[in-house]
Amino acid sequence: MRAFLNGKRVDSGKNMDLRDKKDLTILAIESSCDETAAAVVRNGREILSNVVASQIDIHKRFGGVVPEIASRNHTLALPNVVEKALSDSGLDFGGIDAIAVTYGAGLLGALLTGVSYAKGLSFALKKPLFAVSHVRGHIAANYIAHGDLEFPYICALASGGHTAVLKVSDYDDIRPLGSTKDDAAGEAFDKAARVLGLPYPGGPEIQRLAENGRTIINFTKPLSFGGYDFSFSGLKTAVINYIANNKIKTDKTEDVIERIGVENDGAKADRIEGIGVESGGAKADKTVGNGIENDGVKADRAEGIDVENGGAKADRAEGIGVESGGVKADRVSCRADSKNGTENGMRFKNGITRADIAASFQLAAVGQIKDAAVRAAVDLGVKRIALSGGVGANRKLREELAAACADLGIGTYFLPLGLCTDNAAMIAAEAYFMIRKGKPCAGLELDAKATVGI
Ligand code: ADP
Ligand code: MG
Repeated sequence: MRAFLNGKRVDSGKNMDLRDKKDLTILAIESSCDETAAAVVRNGREILSNVVASQIDIHKRFGGVVPEIASRNHTLALPNVVEKALSDSGLDFGGIDAIAVTYGAGLLGALLTGVSYAKGLSFALKKPLFAVSHVRGHIAANYIAHGDLEFPYICALASGGHTAVLKVSDYDDIRPLGSTKDDAAGEAFDKAARVLGLPYPGGPEIQRLAENGRTIINFTKPLSFGGYDFSFSGLKTAVINYIANNKIKTDKTEDVIERIGVENDGAKADRIEGIGVESGGAKADKTVGNGIENDGVKADRAEGIDVENGGAKADRAEGIGVESGGVKADRVSCRADSKNGTENGMRFKNGITRADIAASFQLAAVGQIKDAAVRAAVDLGVKRIALSGGVGANRKLREELAAACADLGIGTYFLPLGLCTDNAAMIAAEAYFMIRKGKPCAGLELDAKATVGI
């Protein structure tokens, strides 16, 4: 098959024209999971546009990503997302030097939509196409955010599909040191969240819940593998077993709260009444008043509840009022949590709360990532650790890593949240460095791959 360079048909596998071009502007497409993304990036580091259309709301009701639904929605979203990325960049297709696309790893059908779209663009525009590994893209996100990041560095990559510790000695010199033996870190967060009754994606939900929790449950640590490998499957099972062994059978009270949590997106009057009456939190009459009058608890009313009956805490109540203008599902359940230990239909022995379980799980999960990354840096004498991938957004992980590294004189590099989770800017960045390193462009025979090596 043939590829295109500067409008001319050439054998795929060449890219010399682009390698030496002064400025390179790349349009990248990413569709490996449930984000449809496109971005225009100049010279690997300057984002001209970065559009991410998340399908989270579509998949939430299923508790996780449904591959076929993801593929169909990518197909629908891709034209608009690419068009928006281009218009946001202020360029037209003439200003684009190359097209980049994630060809793996990820959901095969989802990847295929992006690959097909990118091949179509490459063919129609006669622009070279570069096939980018999603995993390498996550690593390349660091070059966008950290102009000062020098080689070598340890990259702790923790996403929904991958968990690895790598030594990065150059843009194209990446040595895997360790990886997960079973679940990825993000997968573990998502699964633990699910058993805690939290919606998908679970990482941010666990982080939020854990903020009010105590790290008092000692979840079993995996056996040491002697290297830099991880295991999250046992931790997930430990959480499941803990819940099964420590859950107190719930009564109708919790059922009501659970229903609210699950069903409402803005609690209605009668439901607020339900909480008031049954949870022993806010008093019924006050709560009913709020419900009837406001159709959503306003901040001052919520304060009133707190002042008058010591029900919901003021800051939470305020938060509810201010932030949602109507009580959102998870916030309702949180409020119930803080008052009487009933949490999405769960109550635990010994005063343990769902937040305690979330906090203890989170500490155990991020501890593994921190330990492996720090151990690798120390063992190899590397002075920098960069955190990549969706789980890299986790505040606890950042705190733990920063604290451990400060003691050891190791620099830490954290990404803005939008560059942790899936995006196309990181794919453009990786493509840029591939081109500069003389990597060949892809031909139109390019196929998607569910798994790719580092
Ligand atoms: P993938 O590349 O595998 O599609 P992403 O890099 O987009 O995954 O990361 C998504 C994963 O990151 C999900 O599993 C999600 O739960 C997790 N995640 C996102 N934010 C956080 C957070 N603050 N704490 C922990 N995990 C998080
Ligand atoms: Mg990803």
